[in-house]
Amino acid sequence: PLKTYDVVVIGGGGAGLTAAVSAAQQGASVAVLEKTGSLGGNTIRATAMYNCVDDALQRPLNIADSEQLFFEETYNGGHQKAKPELVRILTSQADEGLAFLQELGLQIDTVIDNCLGGEHARGHYSKAHNGTDFIQVLGDACAREGVDLYLNTKAEALLQDDSGAIIGVTAAHERQTIQFEARRGVILATGGFGYNVEMRMHYDQSLTGDLLCSNAPGTLGEGIVMAEAVGASLMNMEYIELYPMADIYDGGLHNSIPNAINHGILVNTQGDRFIREDAGRDELAEAIRSQEHGFVYSIADDDFSTLQEDRDFLEGLVLMGQVVKADSLDELARLLDLDPVLLNTAIADYNRSVEAQNDPRFHRKTLINKIDHPPFYATAKTVTVHHTLGGVEINERTQVLNSQKQPIPHLFAAGEVTGGIHGANRLGGNSFPDCIVFGRIAGTEAARN
Ligand code: ADP
Repeated sequence: PLKTYDVVVIGGGGAGLTAAVSAAQQGASVAVLEKTGSLGGNTIRATAMYNCVDDALQRPLNIADSEQLFFEETYNGGHQKAKPELVRILTSQADEGLAFLQELGLQIDTVIDNCLGGEHARGHYSKAHNGTDFIQVLGDACAREGVDLYLNTKAEALLQDDSGAIIGVTAAHERQTIQFEARRGVILATGGFGYNVEMRMHYDQSLTGDLLCSNAPGTLGEGIVMAEAVGASLMNMEYIELYPMADIYDGGLHNSIPNAINHGILVNTQGDRFIREDAGRDELAEAIRSQEHGFVYSIADDDFSTLQEDRDFLEGLVLMGQVVKADSLDELARLLDLDPVLLNTAIADYNRSVEAQNDPRFHRKTLINKIDHPPFYATAKTVTVHHTLGGVEINERTQVLNSQKQPIPHLFAAGEVTGGIHGANRLGGNSFPDCIVFGRIAGTEAARN
């Protein structure tokens, strides 16, 4: 069968749904092809923090932020390997992206957080603090805008005319091949390739199948392969992010002590600190990987949060055995089989650093509270393959570029499938604005094409 639309979006995660809504808002007829039976991709599994400068919420918390600081922290945090013009777009349009989501109905919590996200807290959450809220709002908006959604429909190849312009997509649906003709443009929003062991090892041999992975199983890099087949340039492919604070059993992100990075410390399996806990994700991940047994403990005291939701959540983790709770540090050391002298010394030393606001041992900057109010909490943490920072190269209009850095006509891309937005390391909370900001540009550009 043949189906014809103005815009065909491949992938039903955060970037794809944003692009679809944006294209439809421009009056385009839009199809979204999603290979799995449900929307959401990696977006729905994320910790779902959205970074943007927001004076109204940041000022009452004494956070003096600016677009320039956001730019510098993102660009320098990525070790200056991103395309600066794309970082500029991300950091200057993130606030408009959030406003767009709010107009669609997303409710934002007033909490502003920072999780390995640069020096200034600018992370926003939805009410339920999860990715489901975002996908729900975007999915509903697609329905309202008349976007046609094709689930269980896997894009297999991009179609080109004789001039090299992209004119559509072939896709597989229930043993049928469907040709989708795209009059104005095709938008790649297929996410990354973290779940594809062979592909990630091609770019970084150390990322073997023994590592845990937080990704949705559909994160296989098919969009990148399809783009390569029509001559797309790829960039930053070797930068594959390991998330440093994952569950040691399934590599998931959610069973952590809330705010542990800001309010607690990390110790190795002997019981000693080994790094400044507010280091970049890449530095933390490397340090955790090189500890004996490849995992560490995140430790906090009873002052980890003032929010009742956080306390209830933590008690749930204690009940499930994910978090160990103890009335003294000696008891904690006994339960975790740590050296009690090392643990007590490490924490006494850290507490002195908080008092002095100076950590001579590891030079941590975030020294908020001492760890001295029992009960104490600990949970084991390790690294997980989380986000592939490289992908197809785009320009400021999200046009996919070929090896001569010229746009491939009618082909656009947004979200984790692209490279050059984050560079070699990603600030926590930057992938949501990545999806929304570039998804909006891709949808608008493709519709007007
Ligand atoms: P992003 O955060 O960039 O939006 P996600 O991982 O959230 O990325 O979403 C990507 C979506 O694309 C996933 O739902 C995934 O199942 C889908 N996808 C990946 N490859 C294909 C393909 N070949 N055809 C259709 N959908 C695909």
